[in-house]
Amino acid sequence: MTANGNPGSSVPVSRADGSVSAPGAAQPPAKYRTILLFGAPGAGKGTQGKILGTIPRFFHCACGDVFRNLTVESELGRIFVDYSSRGQLVPDEPTIRLWRRNIDALRAMGRFDPDHDTLILDGIPRNVHQAEMLEDTLDVRAIFYLTCSDQKKLVERLQRRALRENRLDDANLEVIRSRLETYDRETKPVLDYYGSNRVHVIDSTQDPVTVLRAILDIIARA
Ligand code: ADP
Repeated sequence: MTANGNPGSSVPVSRADGSVSAPGAAQPPAKYRTILLFGAPGAGKGTQGKILGTIPRFFHCACGDVFRNLTVESELGRIFVDYSSRGQLVPDEPTIRLWRRNIDALRAMGRFDPDHDTLILDGIPRNVHQAEMLEDTLDVRAIFYLTCSDQKKLVERLQRRALRENRLDDANLEVIRSRLETYDRETKPVLDYYGSNRVHVIDSTQDPVTVLRAILDIIARA
């Protein structure tokens, strides 16, 4: 097995990008075909990601959910609560390590099949350093940038979610402000990193069905 789990066989191997490797040829591991859901906290990445993940051949992975599935007794669970409750990003190394461990486990369980599935990523990469760390793993085909020009609307959405989903990081205004600042300062530059030709801008103040239709139109044309 290669680091990416491809069998080291002597027959030609079909790769996720459609190419075929010659027998015995040393090939770098195939990258995961990926679509990024991008936007500020509250823009609706999770809502869209969950729906897209129900479509065959799409696999949704939200980094925040991976963190929330940790127990607070674990060291990383404690680190997560510490940073997220202040509206800050968890440091990059443990974040990427956890994410890789999680996706490897999903592959091993057969829930994510990179030869057939497109990964819908939400909440990762969240800064340029994370994008660099994932460069050898992700083949980013498209970025859906869910924009929201109305900060008040984002704040309202987050406060509603805090009640519904019992989320500590959405619980008070100070933390919400800090999360929005972190997004502007650290996450937004990821758009420049990938370059504008892969970015599709979608107004997230539209209702969820309209946002979904815009995303599906683009995916269906690809
Ligand atoms: P939202 O959907 O509101 O943007 P998430 O559920 O994605 O929020 O993330 C919640 C918190 O988890 C973040 O504020 C951050 O502390 C932590 N987190 C999630 N993803 C990452 C990441 N890729 N890098 C660092 N921290 C992260």
